[in-house]
Amino acid sequence: MARSRKVEQPEACKLVRVLGESVKPGEHVTLDMQVAKLYTRTSVEIPVVVHRAKQDGPTLMIMAAVHGDEVGGIEIVRRILVELQHRSLERGTLIAIPVLNVFGFLAMQRELPDGRDLNRYFPGSAKGSLASRLAHMLVREVLPAADVVIDLHAGGASRMNYPQLRYTKGDERALELARMFDPPVILRSNTIAGSLRHHMFCHEKPYLLYESGASKQFDDHTIQEGTRGVTRVLEGLDMWGGPKDTPRGAAELMRSKWVRANYSGLLETTIPNGAYVSKGIILGHINDPYGTSLHHVRAPFAGRILCLNTSPVVNQGDALFHIGRE
Ligand SMILES: [Zn+2]
Repeated sequence: MARSRKVEQPEACKLVRVLGESVKPGEHVTLDMQVAKLYTRTSVEIPVVVHRAKQDGPTLMIMAAVHGDEVGGIEIVRRILVELQHRSLERGTLIAIPVLNVFGFLAMQRELPDGRDLNRYFPGSAKGSLASRLAHMLVREVLPAADVVIDLHAGGASRMNYPQLRYTKGDERALELARMFDPPVILRSNTIAGSLRHHMFCHEKPYLLYESGASKQFDDHTIQEGTRGVTRVLEGLDMWGGPKDTPRGAAELMRSKWVRANYSGLLETTIPNGAYVSKGIILGHINDPYGTSLHHVRAPFAGRILCLNTSPVVNQGDALFHIGRE
Protein backbone atom coordinates (compact mmCIF):
# COMPACT_ATOMS: atom_id res chain seq x y z
CA MET A 1 0.00 0.00 0.00
CA ALA A 2 1.35 3.37 -1.01
CA ARG A 3 1.85 5.83 1.80
CA SER A 4 1.29 9.47 1.30
CA ARG A 5 3.61 11.79 3.12
CA LYS A 6 2.59 15.29 3.89
CA VAL A 7 5.23 17.71 2.70
CA GLU A 8 5.41 21.12 4.39
CA GLN A 9 5.05 23.68 1.61
CA PRO A 10 6.18 27.23 2.26
CA GLU A 11 3.13 29.48 2.10
CA ALA A 12 3.00 31.27 -1.25
CA CYS A 13 3.75 34.95 -0.80
CA LYS A 14 1.00 37.25 -2.00
CA LEU A 15 1.93 39.35 -5.02
CA VAL A 16 1.51 43.08 -4.38
CA ARG A 17 1.95 44.95 -7.63
CA VAL A 18 1.44 48.72 -7.79
CA LEU A 19 2.23 50.90 -10.84
CA GLY A 20 4.09 47.97 -12.38
CA GLU A 21 6.38 47.56 -9.35
CA SER A 22 6.36 44.47 -7.20
CA VAL A 23 6.43 45.41 -3.51
CA LYS A 24 8.08 42.76 -1.35
CA PRO A 25 7.25 41.81 2.26
CA GLY A 26 8.69 44.35 4.71
CA GLU A 27 9.17 47.01 2.02
CA HIS A 28 8.09 50.64 2.24
CA VAL A 29 8.13 52.53 -1.05
CA THR A 30 6.78 55.74 -2.55
CA LEU A 31 5.92 55.32 -6.22
CA ASP A 32 5.03 58.08 -8.66
CA MET A 33 2.00 57.92 -10.87
CA GLN A 34 2.49 60.05 -13.98
CA VAL A 35 -0.52 60.91 -16.07
CA ALA A 36 0.18 64.23 -17.79
CA LYS A 37 2.52 67.21 -17.75
CA LEU A 38 1.41 70.76 -17.06
CA TYR A 39 1.47 73.21 -19.99
CA THR A 40 4.67 74.59 -18.49
CA ARG A 41 6.26 71.19 -19.40
CA THR A 42 6.48 70.55 -15.66
CA SER A 43 5.83 66.91 -15.01
CA VAL A 44 3.26 66.09 -12.34
CA GLU A 45 3.82 63.13 -10.06
CA ILE A 46 1.05 61.65 -7.96
CA PRO A 47 2.81 59.90 -5.06
CA VAL A 48 1.47 56.49 -4.05
CA VAL A 49 2.86 55.30 -0.71
CA VAL A 50 3.00 51.55 -0.10
CA HIS A 51 3.81 49.97 3.27
CA ARG A 52 3.97 46.20 3.23
CA ALA A 53 4.32 44.16 6.42
CA LYS A 54 6.53 41.08 6.57
CA GLN A 55 3.46 38.97 7.19
CA ASP A 56 0.81 38.52 4.49
CA GLY A 57 -2.64 39.95 5.01
CA PRO A 58 -5.24 42.18 3.40
CA THR A 59 -4.43 45.25 1.33
CA LEU A 60 -6.18 48.42 2.44
CA MET A 61 -6.08 51.49 0.25
CA ILE A 62 -6.81 54.96 1.63
CA MET A 63 -7.05 57.90 -0.70
CA ALA A 64 -7.97 61.57 -0.56
CA ALA A 65 -8.47 64.62 -2.79
CA VAL A 66 -10.22 62.91 -5.69
CA HIS A 67 -11.66 66.41 -5.58
CA GLY A 68 -8.61 68.68 -5.34
CA ASP A 69 -10.00 71.12 -2.75
CA GLU A 70 -11.18 68.50 -0.24
CA VAL A 71 -8.20 68.91 2.04
CA GLY A 72 -9.52 67.27 5.24
CA GLY A 73 -8.89 63.77 3.86
CA ILE A 74 -5.30 64.70 2.98
CA GLU A 75 -4.65 65.48 6.65
CA ILE A 76 -6.23 62.16 7.70
CA VAL A 77 -3.93 60.20 5.35
CA ARG A 78 -0.95 62.25 6.56
CA ARG A 79 -1.70 61.42 10.20
CA ILE A 80 -1.92 57.69 9.38
CA LEU A 81 1.44 57.88 7.54
CA VAL A 82 3.04 59.67 10.51
CA GLU A 83 1.66 56.98 12.85
CA LEU A 84 3.24 54.33 10.60
CA GLN A 85 6.66 55.83 11.40
CA HIS A 86 6.24 54.68 15.01
CA ARG A 87 3.94 51.73 14.64
CA SER A 88 4.81 49.52 11.68
CA LEU A 89 2.24 47.26 10.04
CA GLU A 90 2.03 43.78 11.47
CA ARG A 91 0.20 42.18 8.59
CA GLY A 92 -0.88 43.04 5.06
CA THR A 93 -0.30 46.15 2.97
CA LEU A 94 -1.41 49.76 3.17
CA ILE A 95 -1.58 51.77 -0.05
CA ALA A 96 -2.00 55.48 0.64
CA ILE A 97 -2.66 58.23 -1.91
CA PRO A 98 -2.81 61.49 0.07
CA VAL A 99 -3.58 63.62 -3.01
CA LEU A 100 -5.02 61.90 -6.08
CA ASN A 101 -6.11 64.97 -8.03
CA VAL A 102 -2.81 66.86 -7.74
CA PHE A 103 -3.91 69.12 -10.61
CA GLY A 104 -6.99 70.31 -8.70
CA PHE A 105 -5.04 70.51 -5.42
CA LEU A 106 -2.52 72.92 -6.98
CA ALA A 107 -5.34 75.24 -8.04
CA MET A 108 -7.38 74.51 -4.87
CA GLN A 109 -10.33 73.49 -7.02
CA ARG A 110 -12.58 70.44 -7.11
CA GLU A 111 -12.14 69.62 -10.79
CA LEU A 112 -9.23 68.88 -13.07
CA PRO A 113 -7.83 71.79 -15.16
CA ASP A 114 -10.28 70.91 -17.97
CA GLY A 115 -13.21 71.45 -15.62
CA ARG A 116 -14.07 67.75 -15.40
CA ASP A 117 -15.04 66.00 -12.18
CA LEU A 118 -12.68 63.02 -11.91
CA ASN A 119 -15.34 61.10 -9.97
CA ARG A 120 -17.59 60.88 -13.04
CA TYR A 121 -14.98 59.30 -15.34
CA PHE A 122 -14.35 55.85 -13.86
CA PRO A 123 -13.21 53.38 -15.16
CA GLY A 124 -11.70 55.84 -17.64
CA SER A 125 -9.72 55.20 -20.81
CA ALA A 126 -6.10 55.49 -21.93
CA LYS A 127 -6.87 57.89 -24.79
CA GLY A 128 -9.66 59.95 -23.23
CA SER A 129 -9.73 63.28 -21.40
CA LEU A 130 -7.31 64.01 -18.57
CA ALA A 131 -9.96 62.87 -16.06
CA SER A 132 -10.50 59.69 -18.01
CA ARG A 133 -6.76 58.98 -18.26
CA LEU A 134 -6.20 59.52 -14.54
CA ALA A 135 -9.16 57.28 -13.68
CA HIS A 136 -7.86 54.65 -16.10
CA MET A 137 -4.39 54.62 -14.59
CA LEU A 138 -5.75 54.25 -11.07
CA VAL A 139 -8.07 51.43 -12.17
CA ARG A 140 -5.40 49.57 -14.15
CA GLU A 141 -2.25 50.16 -12.12
CA VAL A 142 -3.24 50.57 -8.48
CA LEU A 143 -6.74 49.31 -7.65
CA PRO A 144 -6.15 45.65 -8.61
CA ALA A 145 -3.75 45.42 -5.63
CA ALA A 146 -6.37 46.68 -3.14
CA ASP A 147 -8.84 44.47 -1.30
CA VAL A 148 -10.63 47.36 0.42
CA VAL A 149 -10.76 51.06 -0.45
CA ILE A 150 -11.55 53.98 1.86
CA ASP A 151 -12.05 57.18 -0.13
CA LEU A 152 -12.03 60.44 1.86
CA HIS A 153 -14.25 63.31 0.72
CA ALA A 154 -15.83 66.55 1.96
CA GLY A 155 -18.91 68.61 1.15
CA GLY A 156 -18.78 71.13 -1.68
CA ALA A 157 -18.63 74.89 -1.21
CA SER A 158 -20.70 75.96 1.84
CA ARG A 159 -21.78 72.37 2.56
CA MET A 160 -20.62 71.16 5.97
CA ASN A 161 -21.05 67.39 6.19
CA TYR A 162 -21.42 65.70 9.55
CA PRO A 163 -18.89 62.80 9.69
CA GLN A 164 -20.49 59.90 7.84
CA LEU A 165 -19.60 56.81 5.87
CA ARG A 166 -21.60 55.91 2.78
CA TYR A 167 -21.90 52.44 1.35
CA THR A 168 -23.87 50.88 -1.46
CA LYS A 169 -26.91 48.67 -0.88
CA GLY A 170 -25.83 45.07 -1.42
CA ASP A 171 -22.19 45.72 -0.45
CA GLU A 172 -22.45 43.79 2.81
CA ARG A 173 -18.69 43.62 3.32
CA ALA A 174 -18.55 47.43 3.15
CA LEU A 175 -21.25 47.66 5.82
CA GLU A 176 -19.23 45.32 8.03
CA LEU A 177 -16.13 47.51 7.50
CA ALA A 178 -18.18 50.66 8.12
CA ARG A 179 -19.18 49.26 11.51
CA MET A 180 -15.51 48.56 12.16
CA PHE A 181 -14.69 52.21 11.25
CA ASP A 182 -17.46 53.28 13.68
CA PRO A 183 -18.26 56.81 12.46
CA PRO A 184 -21.14 58.78 14.02
CA VAL A 185 -23.35 57.94 10.99
CA ILE A 186 -23.45 55.19 8.35
CA LEU A 187 -25.65 56.03 5.37
CA ARG A 188 -26.79 53.62 2.70
CA SER A 189 -26.98 55.46 -0.60
CA ASN A 190 -27.09 54.84 -4.34
CA THR A 191 -24.05 55.03 -6.56
CA ILE A 192 -23.62 57.53 -9.39
CA ALA A 193 -22.53 56.23 -12.81
CA GLY A 194 -18.89 57.05 -13.48
CA SER A 195 -18.01 57.34 -9.79
CA LEU A 196 -15.28 55.26 -8.22
CA ARG A 197 -17.88 53.81 -5.87
CA HIS A 198 -19.96 52.60 -8.83
CA HIS A 199 -16.88 51.02 -10.41
CA MET A 200 -15.90 49.26 -7.18
CA PHE A 201 -19.44 47.99 -6.64
CA CYS A 202 -19.54 46.55 -10.18
CA HIS A 203 -16.25 44.76 -9.45
CA GLU A 204 -17.50 43.50 -6.08
CA LYS A 205 -14.74 45.17 -4.08
CA PRO A 206 -15.71 46.73 -0.75
CA TYR A 207 -15.55 50.51 -0.86
CA LEU A 208 -16.27 53.08 1.83
CA LEU A 209 -16.88 56.74 1.11
CA TYR A 210 -16.09 59.03 4.04
CA GLU A 211 -17.96 62.31 3.66
CA SER A 212 -17.15 64.89 6.29
CA GLY A 213 -16.50 68.61 6.67
CA ALA A 214 -16.40 71.08 3.82
CA SER A 215 -13.95 71.68 0.98
CA LYS A 216 -11.00 74.06 1.53
CA GLN A 217 -11.31 73.62 5.32
CA PHE A 218 -9.60 71.74 8.09
CA ASP A 219 -12.38 70.69 10.42
CA ASP A 220 -11.17 69.09 13.70
CA HIS A 221 -14.18 66.80 14.06
CA THR A 222 -13.71 65.51 10.48
CA ILE A 223 -10.01 64.85 10.95
CA GLN A 224 -10.40 63.19 14.35
CA GLU A 225 -13.26 60.91 13.28
CA GLY A 226 -11.54 60.00 10.01
CA THR A 227 -8.19 59.22 11.64
CA ARG A 228 -9.88 57.18 14.37
CA GLY A 229 -11.97 55.29 11.79
CA VAL A 230 -9.07 54.37 9.50
CA THR A 231 -7.05 53.33 12.57
CA ARG A 232 -9.93 51.14 13.74
CA VAL A 233 -10.16 49.45 10.31
CA LEU A 234 -6.39 48.80 10.32
CA GLU A 235 -6.75 47.26 13.79
CA GLY A 236 -9.93 45.39 12.90
CA LEU A 237 -8.24 43.77 9.91
CA ASP A 238 -5.35 42.80 12.24
CA MET A 239 -2.95 44.92 10.18
CA TRP A 240 -2.12 46.89 13.31
CA GLY A 241 -2.06 45.31 16.73
CA GLY A 242 -2.34 47.28 19.93
CA PRO A 243 -5.22 49.23 21.41
CA LYS A 244 -8.66 48.87 20.00
CA ASP A 245 -10.98 51.47 21.43
CA THR A 246 -14.54 50.60 22.37
CA PRO A 247 -17.02 51.07 19.50
CA ARG A 248 -19.70 53.68 20.14
CA GLY A 249 -22.08 52.25 17.55
CA ALA A 250 -23.00 54.32 14.51
CA ALA A 251 -26.51 55.50 13.66
CA GLU A 252 -27.38 53.46 10.55
CA LEU A 253 -29.56 55.42 8.14
CA MET A 254 -31.22 53.91 5.09
CA ARG A 255 -32.15 56.99 3.03
CA SER A 256 -31.79 60.72 3.02
CA LYS A 257 -33.28 63.81 1.46
CA TRP A 258 -32.37 67.47 1.04
CA VAL A 259 -34.63 70.20 2.36
CA ARG A 260 -34.52 73.05 -0.18
CA ALA A 261 -35.16 76.77 0.13
CA ASN A 262 -38.67 77.90 -0.78
CA TYR A 263 -37.52 81.52 -0.68
CA SER A 264 -34.37 83.47 -1.48
CA GLY A 265 -32.73 85.44 1.30
CA LEU A 266 -30.37 85.39 4.27
CA LEU A 267 -30.11 81.98 5.88
CA GLU A 268 -30.01 81.68 9.64
CA THR A 269 -29.53 78.10 10.85
CA THR A 270 -30.89 77.27 14.30
CA ILE A 271 -30.03 73.56 14.52
CA PRO A 272 -26.54 72.06 15.00
CA ASN A 273 -25.05 69.64 12.49
CA GLY A 274 -25.64 65.99 13.42
CA ALA A 275 -28.70 66.82 15.53
CA TYR A 276 -31.71 64.52 15.71
CA VAL A 277 -34.80 66.42 14.59
CA SER A 278 -38.48 65.66 14.87
CA LYS A 279 -41.02 66.36 12.14
CA GLY A 280 -42.04 70.02 11.97
CA ILE A 281 -39.19 71.37 14.10
CA ILE A 282 -37.70 74.69 12.92
CA LEU A 283 -34.29 74.16 11.30
CA GLY A 284 -33.65 77.78 10.43
CA HIS A 285 -35.03 80.98 8.96
CA ILE A 286 -34.76 82.73 5.63
CA ASN A 287 -34.93 86.51 6.14
CA ASP A 288 -34.89 89.33 3.65
CA PRO A 289 -32.17 91.97 4.11
CA TYR A 290 -34.74 94.70 4.95
CA GLY A 291 -36.26 93.16 8.04
CA THR A 292 -39.67 92.83 6.42
CA SER A 293 -40.01 89.06 5.95
CA LEU A 294 -39.02 85.94 7.85
CA HIS A 295 -39.77 82.40 6.70
CA HIS A 296 -39.33 79.32 8.87
CA VAL A 297 -37.66 76.25 7.40
CA ARG A 298 -39.14 73.16 9.05
CA ALA A 299 -38.11 69.49 9.05
CA PRO A 300 -40.51 67.64 6.71
CA PHE A 301 -39.82 64.35 8.55
CA ALA A 302 -37.97 63.10 11.61
CA GLY A 303 -34.31 62.23 11.13
CA ARG A 304 -30.73 63.32 11.61
CA ILE A 305 -29.00 66.35 10.12
CA LEU A 306 -26.19 65.07 7.88
CA CYS A 307 -25.19 68.32 6.19
CA LEU A 308 -25.74 72.03 6.71
CA ASN A 309 -25.59 74.74 4.10
CA THR A 310 -23.35 77.36 5.72
CA SER A 311 -23.83 80.04 3.06
CA PRO A 312 -25.17 83.31 4.50
CA VAL A 313 -27.23 83.90 1.37
CA VAL A 314 -29.41 81.35 -0.43
CA ASN A 315 -31.52 81.28 -3.55
CA GLN A 316 -34.88 79.63 -3.96
CA GLY A 317 -34.29 75.93 -4.63
CA ASP A 318 -30.88 75.76 -2.93
CA ALA A 319 -30.19 72.66 -0.84
CA LEU A 320 -30.20 73.72 2.83
CA PHE A 321 -30.32 70.71 5.15
CA HIS A 322 -29.54 67.08 4.32
CA ILE A 323 -31.58 64.84 6.58
CA GLY A 324 -31.08 61.09 6.98
CA ARG A 325 -33.88 58.72 7.99
CA GLU A 326 -33.59 55.51 9.93
ZN1 LIG B 1 -15.47 64.77 -3.01
